[in-house]
Amino acid sequence: MSLCVGVLGLQGDFALHAAMLKRLKVRSKTVRRPDDLTDCAGLILPGGESTTLMKLMAETGLDEGIKTFAAGHAVMGTCAGLIMLSAGLIGEKKVTPLGLIDIEAERNAYGRQVDSFVDRVRVPVFKDGKDFEAVFIRAPRIRFMGEGVKAMARHRDEVVMARNERVLVMTFHPELTRDARIHEYFVKEMVMKSRF
Ligand code: GLN
Repeated sequence: MSLCVGVLGLQGDFALHAAMLKRLKVRSKTVRRPDDLTDCAGLILPGGESTTLMKLMAETGLDEGIKTFAAGHAVMGTCAGLIMLSAGLIGEKKVTPLGLIDIEAERNAYGRQVDSFVDRVRVPVFKDGKDFEAVFIRAPRIRFMGEGVKAMARHRDEVVMARNERVLVMTFHPELTRDARIHEYFVKEMVMKSRF
């Protein structure tokens, strides 16, 4: 059986992540209940609205399900997905993130004037040296990173992509470009390596 990566499908742009995985010839599955994780080798949490997503995760039991899953599998979160995977949120009391990566994030932190923009970011692990065109949509900012969290990409000196052993997060939307390098990195360097 070939490897299958789950995409959390409670809300948000999960279909575009599935399309990106398809381009890489990786099977994907929409995850809506904890049981759906059973045959997944990794999981992607898409962007969307983090407060709604966290509420739906609590209602379906996926909050606990994802925590258990992440103890042995790789997980990637984009934008609202990063917010959900973080350890804490600045100025936000209503929602409790899953705490799977030691970062603190601030939601909607670019302010109204520039709440959505596209810019190039350098991702040093990509050996071809080409920048990644990053789409930021009402993006959060990473305000704190703990030890054991590695910066993977910066935009104007600010970390916008980071990872620990099994969790990869970015404040932008790699599924909205035609560039599959971030999904490819996640599958090859994290999902495949944390499978056994
Ligand atoms: N602003 C959204 C939030 O705080 C995230 C936006 C996104 O995922 N594109 O949940």
